[in-house]
Amino acid sequence: MELKSAWERWDDATKESAIRFGDQYRDFLTENKTERRCVASAVAEAEASGYVSLEKKSSLVPGDKVYRINREKEVVLALIGKDSLTSGARIIVSHADSPRIDLKGNPLYEEEGIGLFKTSYYGGIKKYQWFTLPLALYGVIFLKDGSRVTLEIGDNPGDPVFVITDLLPHLDREQGKKSIEDGFPGETLNILAGSMPDSSVEKEKVKAHILSLLSEKYGIRNDDFFSAEIQAVPAGPARDLGFDRSLVLGYGQDDRACVFTSFRAMMDSEKNDNTCICLIVDQEEIGSRGSTSAQSFFFYYFLQELIEKSGLPSEEFRNFCEKSKALSADTSSALDPTFRDAHDPRNARRIGHGVGVERTTGGRGKVFSTEPSAEYLAYIRGIFDARNVVWQAGDLGKVDLGGGGTVATYIALFNIDTVDCGPGGFSVHAPFEVMSKADIYSAYLGYKAFYEAP
Ligand code: MN
Ligand code: MN
Repeated sequence: MELKSAWERWDDATKESAIRFGDQYRDFLTENKTERRCVASAVAEAEASGYVSLEKKSSLVPGDKVYRINREKEVVLALIGKDSLTSGARIIVSHADSPRIDLKGNPLYEEEGIGLFKTSYYGGIKKYQWFTLPLALYGVIFLKDGSRVTLEIGDNPGDPVFVITDLLPHLDREQGKKSIEDGFPGETLNILAGSMPDSSVEKEKVKAHILSLLSEKYGIRNDDFFSAEIQAVPAGPARDLGFDRSLVLGYGQDDRACVFTSFRAMMDSEKNDNTCICLIVDQEEIGSRGSTSAQSFFFYYFLQELIEKSGLPSEEFRNFCEKSKALSADTSSALDPTFRDAHDPRNARRIGHGVGVERTTGGRGKVFSTEPSAEYLAYIRGIFDARNVVWQAGDLGKVDLGGGGTVATYIALFNIDTVDCGPGGFSVHAPFEVMSKADIYSAYLGYKAFYEAP
């Protein structure tokens, strides 16, 4: 395999397209910092290109464009192809949730005249990275009568921001002796929310003041936090990175890089003999256990509905799965020269060298890997090479060091060939992750080739 960056392999026009695409991607990251926002923006754009809710369709014919939303947090779109569903579909699955800091159900408290929120971190974070950063709050609060309140504060011009404080170095001798794990306990990730007392009350004057502001602006009371999902995420836009602007620095690139690229590939795909499906799931970062995760039957029911509404007998579902092909579109680590020792350089993906195809995501004996077959890997290589997609092999790190699972597992369970395929980055799961515009564009071209391949 040739070790040459995409920037060297592309002509000037393609490089220009990659930069322009990367700029759109950067702005998508800025605008879509929660899974709910990702789903809403995907649906809005899909509807503008003629997609309709599957509920509204009693039967399906080639050329139909349909979608279904699951609880505002998961969405699946399908473009019905000319070929019968008995010859399978092309499925790309990505996840719209990203590591973050969630408010607890009873979050607001006051201590030493400071108003604070208790939090639970969401996903596998290195906790120390989340201290002293400006944070924005995004969320929904549902009141007992079912009404919905949207909270978005910290990213609009003039908004205040929030922060998790850290101890100054002058007093950190005890903290400094601890390991990274012990030095930053989860219960110290408290978000500073205010400090001005309400002198009209007797006690907890700062908390009372914050609650009165929340009541005024949002009509919510302290109890309402229990039925809320409020996420603290890094405030501020995603940015171009480097003198050459070849990279993007931004929050949530795992896995909104693949949400953006797979969705765009679906919207832009032109030749559709196959039925194409774009599935965007939630809860990947916490193990895919809930009703909006890849393990939910939501996707299964959607596929069944496609079969039924296409007029096929339900037993065709088994054929459909066997003939379908899937990409688990997820980000992974690229070889960071500063942390070279964590990787096997002969099998690691490199920044700017194209979309990565991952033979195994598992560590210590490939545990939790979905292991695509050699036959399927050959098929993927073939379609990428036929369209000159810049791609690279890329396993996750040295075999004994770590590893992890992806939603590939839950698609493979349907008896659908599935392989992990996506861009690699630096500082993945950090508040600000690094990805290359070349890899983002290669992922898009790869996904589009997959959808359009005969
Ligand atoms: Mn991911
Ligand atoms: Mn992740």
